Amino acid sequence: MTGSIQKSESLYQRALKNIPGGVNSPVRAFKSVGGTPVFMKSAKGAYLYDADGNQYIDYISSWGPMILGHCHEEVVSAIQRKANESISFGAPTELEISMADLITDMAPGIDMVRLVNSGTEACMSAVRLARAFTGRNKILKFEGCYHGHADAFLVKAGSGVATLNIQAVPGVTAGVAMDTLTLPYNDLAAVKELLKNHPEDIAAIIIEPVAGNMGCILPEPGFIEGLRSLCTEYGIVYIFDEVMTGFRLAKGGAQEYLNVEADLVTYGKVIGGGMPIGAFGGKKAIMEHIAPLGNVYQAGTLSGNPIAVIAGYTTLSILNNNPSVYTDLENRCKALKAGLENALTEKGITHTVNQAGSMISVHFGAHKVMDLQTASQCDIAFFNRFFHHMLKQGIYLPPSAYESWFLNHALSNADIDKTIEAIHKL
Ligand SMILES: *Cc1c(COP(=O)(O)O)cnc(C)c1O
Repeated sequence: MTGSIQKSESLYQRALKNIPGGVNSPVRAFKSVGGTPVFMKSAKGAYLYDADGNQYIDYISSWGPMILGHCHEEVVSAIQRKANESISFGAPTELEISMADLITDMAPGIDMVRLVNSGTEACMSAVRLARAFTGRNKILKFEGCYHGHADAFLVKAGSGVATLNIQAVPGVTAGVAMDTLTLPYNDLAAVKELLKNHPEDIAAIIIEPVAGNMGCILPEPGFIEGLRSLCTEYGIVYIFDEVMTGFRLAKGGAQEYLNVEADLVTYGKVIGGGMPIGAFGGKKAIMEHIAPLGNVYQAGTLSGNPIAVIAGYTTLSILNNNPSVYTDLENRCKALKAGLENALTEKGITHTVNQAGSMISVHFGAHKVMDLQTASQCDIAFFNRFFHHMLKQGIYLPPSAYESWFLNHALSNADIDKTIEAIHKL
């Protein structure tokens, strides 16, 4: 059991004064689960420590990046050494070449790569490039997939097949929204129908090849492969948004995990090892259109920042040299899945646990979850109770029924056992 969170409570009150909602990214605010967000102070390995000194087993891993666990010694000392050389040059460095070599080595089909500062930047730049490359305006995304907060991606999922009647979120112009089409995840027939009616309008299909932003949702057999064939047939740029899955599901990310190659791939999260980086890369024939080689503009004052790159480079190198990290993670995640399912079944709680590699999520009250519609039917009130119960037991889960949990390699079998024990106490 955790103790008082008095300091978190008073920090939250202070934060509310001059930070919108008290947080710098919405999900941290506990708005959907209720209660006071826990303010963190430090972390080591699989554990987080809050401002009041409570310890938590961490199932967020900073939403993915901390795949090796917190404050991994090699990563921390690499950052410290680099900081003594320079914090930023705004000029090219050898380290960026090493990073590009490593990424192209680990991930399939990446001939060239450009570093940016976030997953959002990577996705918006990839879409711009796809539009320039194809000379087309529209993009297709799937309901419930998140590709960052750029205007083009913040289009509400319209219901029904191939709807062109798009609703925009406040601040996104109707013009921008009109160019983003949405269809249900895992509905290949709907994509075929859309393309039959609009064979030359779509520049890119962007997708989370394993979805992680409506809980964890796996592609049905043939879905990702079917989209690959359609993109080739209609001259559409196939973009895998691997901001979450990249270097997490496997060394080569979802491309390797699902054995399907995209035309462009976006990265974030793990690629920075906890520092702000993103990247996009892919086929040379497309990537060579990026400035200054080509005329598609994309830039960044801090892109390739040495501190950020050394954190990412060290993290990726460790993953590259220790493939057992992925099997360990998968084994622990499978043990967690089995434990979760047993405990919930024993209690007579209807649930679906979806898992891929080190990504896992539980949807309460649901029998099969394969798209946003089925994910939306889950019992939010029960999740919120579950979340707060686990938090009190010292288990830090994402504060939302729609988020995947991310395991890190510092998590031990004993931590998994402790987590399952906590569920039994529900
Ligand atoms: C987190 C995420 C993004 C956005 O990345 P940021 O670094 O937060 O901008 C984009 N796509 C997916 C799939 C993500 O999970």
